[in-house]
Amino acid sequence: MLPLLRAAWFPTGAETGVAVLHKLSLLAPLVLLLASPARTEPPPPATALTCTGVTKQGGLLVCEGPPETAIHVTSPKDKHDRTVRTDEAGTVLIGLHQKEASTLTLTPDPGQIPPVTVQVAPRDDDFRLIRGFNCDKVDARTEAQKQHAAESWVKKQDAFARFNTGPALSKGFIKPVNGPASSPFGPTRKYVGTGANGDPCEKVSVHEGFDFAVPTGTPVSAPAGGTVVLADTDLYYEGGTVFLDHGGGLVSVFLHLSAVDVTEGDVVSQGDRLGATGNTGRTTGPHLHWAVKWRNEETSGRDRDFYVDPALLLALEPH
Ligand SMILES: [Zn+2]
Repeated sequence: MLPLLRAAWFPTGAETGVAVLHKLSLLAPLVLLLASPARTEPPPPATALTCTGVTKQGGLLVCEGPPETAIHVTSPKDKHDRTVRTDEAGTVLIGLHQKEASTLTLTPDPGQIPPVTVQVAPRDDDFRLIRGFNCDKVDARTEAQKQHAAESWVKKQDAFARFNTGPALSKGFIKPVNGPASSPFGPTRKYVGTGANGDPCEKVSVHEGFDFAVPTGTPVSAPAGGTVVLADTDLYYEGGTVFLDHGGGLVSVFLHLSAVDVTEGDVVSQGDRLGATGNTGRTTGPHLHWAVKWRNEETSGRDRDFYVDPALLLALEPH
C-alpha cells in the first residue's frame, strides 16, 4: 500500500464552520443567516491524483483522479514511459513493468492537478539454466505444426485486442486453483538441449506467469470476474486456453487446460469455474500457468502491453 501517496482531501474551514453553525442553528437561526456568506466561497478543488496498489516491479498502481484525464507516466531514463487515461469514474490501473524504473512521475494533463511521484521497489528474479531440453517437443517444425502455431497466434492477438468493462479489482484477486505454487513470475530460463537431428539447441525466455503444481483435472476458477475473450481447447503451445478480461485493461490467461468449460462472450464472477488443469500444449508436466497482462487502453497498438506478477495482484485490497 502507498499511504504516503494519498493526497488527503479535507473540507475547508468554511465548511466546518457551517457544519458547526448548523448545530447551533436551532438555538440561533439569526447567527446562521449572518454567517451564510461562508457558503458562497468557491468549492474546494474537485479532486487530486492519488495512487495506491503494489508499488513493486511487476505490480499494479490503482490511481484515482479527474475523470477522462490523460496521465503521463515518466521516469528519468526509462523505455516504459507511457500515457494512460482515467475512466469516467476517474480510475485507472497502471501496470508496473518487471523492469520498471525505481522512480515514476505521474503527471495529469492538463496540469491543474499536481503530479505524483511513486517509488517502485525492485524485484530480485533469478536465472535458471534448464538442461536436457527437447527442442523438438516445443518447436513447430512440420508445415502442419507451423500452421497450427500461426493460427493460435492470430487467435491470441485478436483476443488481446478486445476490451471489455469489468469489475477489475472490486473484489480483489483470489487464486484460480487450490494448490501449491511451483514457479513464480519473473525468472529467466535458459533452455539447453538437443533438437531433431541431435544438434544442440538453446532458448531463453522469461517466465511471465505463475505456475501451480496441481494434478490434471483440478478445477480452475476465475480469480476475479470478467468476460471470456478466448476459449480454445487446442492452441499449439498453450493447449487448452482461456483468456478472461477483467476490465481496467487486465486479462488473465490460463494455459494447458484439460477442460475448457466456458465459451467466448461468457461473463463470469469471481470463483466461477472456467475449466480444469491439464498437460496440454507444449508443456513438461501437468500444471496451471496463470498469467495476467496489463493493457494500456489509451493506446491502439498492443505491442507495449506487458505481463504483471499475478502473485502481487493477490496482495491487492479490493478497490
Ligand atoms: Zn508457467
